[in-house]
Amino acid sequence: MMELQNLIGGEMTNPQSGQWLDNVEPATGQVFSRIPRSDAADIEAAVEAARAAFPKWSSTPFEERAACLRRWGALVAKHSEALIAAESQDNGKPVSLAQAVDIPRAQKNLEFFAGAIEHFASEAHIPGGAEFIHYTHRKPIGVVGCISPWNLPLYLFTWKIAPALAAGNCVVAKPSEVTPVTAWMLSNWAAEAGFPAGVFNVVHGLGHEAGQALVEHPKVKAISFTGGTQTGAHIARTTAGMFKKLSLELGGKNPAIIFADCDFENAISTTIRSSFANQGQICLCSSRILIEDRLYEAFRDALVAKAKRIIPGDPSDNTTKMGALVSAPHRDKVLGYIASAKEQGANVLCGGAPASAPNERCASGYFMQPTILEGLGSECNINQEEIFGPVITLQRFSSEAEAIALANDSDYGLAATIWTQDASKAHRVASQIESGIAWINCWLVRDLRTPFGGVKSSGVGREGGFEALRFFTEPQSVCIPTH
Ligand code: NDP
Repeated sequence: MMELQNLIGGEMTNPQSGQWLDNVEPATGQVFSRIPRSDAADIEAAVEAARAAFPKWSSTPFEERAACLRRWGALVAKHSEALIAAESQDNGKPVSLAQAVDIPRAQKNLEFFAGAIEHFASEAHIPGGAEFIHYTHRKPIGVVGCISPWNLPLYLFTWKIAPALAAGNCVVAKPSEVTPVTAWMLSNWAAEAGFPAGVFNVVHGLGHEAGQALVEHPKVKAISFTGGTQTGAHIARTTAGMFKKLSLELGGKNPAIIFADCDFENAISTTIRSSFANQGQICLCSSRILIEDRLYEAFRDALVAKAKRIIPGDPSDNTTKMGALVSAPHRDKVLGYIASAKEQGANVLCGGAPASAPNERCASGYFMQPTILEGLGSECNINQEEIFGPVITLQRFSSEAEAIALANDSDYGLAATIWTQDASKAHRVASQIESGIAWINCWLVRDLRTPFGGVKSSGVGREGGFEALRFFTEPQSVCIPTH
C-alpha cells in the first residue's frame, strides 16, 4: 500500500506521533494509501525548517525563484499522466476532468507565478517639487501557511504555494487529508526543481490537528486558506488576536440567472456543466438556477432531459463524465439535504438518490444521481446552505429586479452567471449582484491575472495575479529627500 510522508526541511519524514490515517478511493470505498497523522510537533519542525531557510530564500534573486517554479511546472508536465491518474483515484473525479482541468491548471499556476514575479513592480510617489521620493518596498512576509481543500486538490494547492514562494516566503502547506496524494507527489520533486531544503514543507494530517497547529503557530505570519465558511470563520477567530494576514476563499451558493432572451442552447449546455462538473463539488458551481417566468417550463424540461442523460461512471474510464463524490460522509450529507428538501415539499424532477455502481470494481463507491429540485422558496435551507454536490434548485422570477433580489438573497457571494443577449441588461445586472465574480453567457472562464474571491460569507481578500503577490508581501513605505 502506498505510504505518504511529510516533507520537512528537505527530508521525507514520518509523523513524529507514529500515527497514520487511511486514505480511501471514493470510487471503490477501499483504502488505497495511508498518510501521516501529523500534529503540532511536525508543524513545529516544519516551521523551524522554514524559518531557517527564509533569510537565504528571501534574498535569492527573483529570476532564480521563478526558475525553480518553471522547473517544477515542467516536472508536473513530465509526470502528468501519473498525476491525472492519482487525482482521479484520490478524489473520485473523472480522469477526463483531471486531464482537461486539474493537472494542466496546476502546471499553469506554477508557470504563471514565475512570470508574475518577474513583472511585479513597486510604486514610487514623487510629490510636486520632487523634494522627496516615497517608494513602496514590498518584502516577503516570512513563514506562511497554505491550507487547501479536497475538491480541486493540486489545482488549489499550487494556486497558493506558487505566489507565496515566488514572493520569497517559505511555506508550510497542509493539503486536505481527504485528497493528499498529488501534493505529496509534487513535494517529491521540490529538490529537483531547485528549491533549497526548508523553503517548501508539506505536513499531512487532519484539519483540527495539523491544520489548527499551523494556524495557531505564532511564527507563521500569514495564512492563505481555501475551504468551508465555518472553517474559515474558525480560523479568523483563532488568529484574531495574533494579527496574522489572512486570505479566506470560502463557500458559495451561486445563482445562475436565466433571462428569457438568452441563447437557449448555450445556456442549457453551460448550466448543465456549471451545475454538475466535478459532481457539483466546485466552489464556483451554480446551485440556484433562477429562470424568467416565460422561459421557465421550456428551460426546466430541457435541463432535466439533459441531466437524466448523465450517468455516473467509473472515474478511471476515459468516457466517464461524472464520477464519485469524495467520501461517504460527504455523500450522506448531500443525501441528507435531499431528504430535507423532500420533507419541505420539494418536487424532485430527476435524481434524488445514490446512483447504481457502474461496475463491480466500484460496487462500494459513492455515486450519486444528478438531482434537480423545484418548488422551494428562497428562504428554505436548501436554497441558503451550500450543499456542494450534484444538486440544484430551480426558482422563477418575473422581472429584472426580482432576479437580482433572489440572487442576492444569500449569505454567500462568490460567483454568479447571467444569461441574456441584451448586453446593457447583462452589465446592469452584473453590477448589482453581490458576488466577487460574475460570468455573462459563460462559466469558469479564467484569466489568472484577474482578482479571484468572494464577498459576504464567501471570503475575505482576493487571489490571482498581483493580488496574490500583494497578499504574500508586506509593503513598507520609504521616504527620502532628493537633496
Ligand atoms: P474544509 O473547510 O473542511 O477544509 C479545508 C481545509 O482546511 C482542509 O485542508 C482541512 O483539513 C483544513 N482544516 C479543517 N479544519 C481546520 C482547522 N481548524 N484549522 C486549520 N485547517 C483546518 O473544506 P473542504 O475541504 O470540505 O472543502 C470544501 C469547501 O471549500 C466548500 O465549502 C467549498 O465551497 C470551499 N471552496 C472554496 C473555494 C474558493 O475559492 N472560494 C474553492 C474550492 C473550495 P482536513 O481536510 O484534514 O479536515
